[in-house]
Amino acid sequence: MGDYFQTIVDLDATERDAQELGARVLDWLIADGIVAAERTDCVLGGDGYGHAPGPHFTKAVDDPDPVDLWTNGFHVQTGRTVFDSGQGDAGAATCPLCRTEIRLVDEVWEPIESAWGPFEGRFQDWAEDGGEGIVHCPSCARPSGIDRWSWEDDYYACGHLGFTFWGWAELTSDFTREIGRRLGGHRTVLLAGKL
Ligand SMILES: [Zn+2]
Repeated sequence: MGDYFQTIVDLDATERDAQELGARVLDWLIADGIVAAERTDCVLGGDGYGHAPGPHFTKAVDDPDPVDLWTNGFHVQTGRTVFDSGQGDAGAATCPLCRTEIRLVDEVWEPIESAWGPFEGRFQDWAEDGGEGIVHCPSCARPSGIDRWSWEDDYYACGHLGFTFWGWAELTSDFTREIGRRLGGHRTVLLAGKL
């Protein structure tokens, strides 16, 4: 058993506009009754506080069953963050420049140490040390920031703004598209995982 979550990450929000964009989406979710206005003790991330599902939360999900887990809140995360899918490992990474896919696990899903070499410490450099997290692609040898790489099944996403739903049924594609629209047409990815 674990606690399931889904995070919609805005790939285009900058350090400067993440706060305002996050507030804009939150205001819309509250106005539409998808989440409650008050913050309560209902999420696992951050400080544990988030917004519980609102009376019209089914606008966002396929499954109309009520979410009854205590960890059922909604949480907005801003600031440089490496979002990940919790348990498991990333299967592969794709170079933003040559589109070569680098396999990161073997056939029994064990991480391949040598394949991880170029990525070693890069997430930390980008997220915590404010660096660019430069990765030299093993295929084309060109450098690019780790925030520009894409990950199989969207296991990771680097961004400044993410919206996490704890314990909710699968979010509909209409709903995730609508969030992208309200973010000014920004590119988004949906991470799904559990702790
Ligand atoms: Zn490359």
